[in-house]
Amino acid sequence: MKQHLFSELVAAIDLLSPGQRHWLLEQLQHPQNIPDIIEHLEQRLRADLQCPHCNHAHIYRWGTVKSLQRYRCRSCLKTFTALTHSPLSHLRKREVWLTYAQSMLHSETLRLAAYRCDIHLTTSFRWRHRFLQLADCLNARKLAGIVESDQTLFRESFKGQRTIQGRAPRKRGKDHPKDARWISVLVARDRKADEADFVLSNFTLKKVEEHLLPRLSNDIVLCTDGHLTFEVFTAKHNIEHRVLNASVGERVKESVFHIQGVNSYHQRLKGWISRFHGVATKYLSHYLGWFRWFEQHRSENHQPADFMEDLISTDTIQHLAQT
Ligand SMILES: [Zn+2]
Repeated sequence: MKQHLFSELVAAIDLLSPGQRHWLLEQLQHPQNIPDIIEHLEQRLRADLQCPHCNHAHIYRWGTVKSLQRYRCRSCLKTFTALTHSPLSHLRKREVWLTYAQSMLHSETLRLAAYRCDIHLTTSFRWRHRFLQLADCLNARKLAGIVESDQTLFRESFKGQRTIQGRAPRKRGKDHPKDARWISVLVARDRKADEADFVLSNFTLKKVEEHLLPRLSNDIVLCTDGHLTFEVFTAKHNIEHRVLNASVGERVKESVFHIQGVNSYHQRLKGWISRFHGVATKYLSHYLGWFRWFEQHRSENHQPADFMEDLISTDTIQHLAQT
């Protein structure tokens, strides 16, 4: 707002009736049109004001854009707002972001979320994957003590893709299960319920070394179903290994070693993901991240704004940079 208009506004405050004054105060304290999340991002930027383009700290105000404070950098002369470089940049219709987040808290399909927010299906798709970019990275960095690990398989899916390399697209339900390729998702979990999972195209030693090994603390005991890949992996890296052989009814060894935590995680994951009627393999990791967020917040009563704040929190961004 221009300074002279603002001065007029301030001058007009004296003319307000007590009722109008009260209403205005309410509006200022609980703005209807600006989602809390924007306020949160602006506060965060104000607390640590630096240029997102070049990290320079010499910044000055440079008008507003769509009711957001705009800043300009003295060093690179570029302008920015609190949304610049955030997962929410260039997304329109801010007024329904929270409704969209609410829909994600209810694990709704893209179509239902689009309907609820009155947005196009392609917009719904773009938002979902933008919101999920960071959830993708909430993987535990370190697993300690007794670590259970097991793979679960998801059928390869090219859902939503118009062109598929190597074969013609099929109508849903018209394909043979034996033609399907299966994608391995490796889940590892320790007894503090720290959890990490990875989409591996193949369950091989190389993949397990690449993804799981860096997250294992030094003196862990790994519990698995004894898959050959785990046998080779633990032998090569001197990891204590306990094998649970389910086919002969072996559930628990020495009363502490089992893989029931990881297997029940698989079950909850599969149950949750089934509502989407198949997820494109390309986006499977986003969905794993979304589910992981629910698992990490199981006992809390979360609001849409918390969900969004978590997804854009500095922690996750730093985590993203480190992964
Ligand atoms: Zn700059």
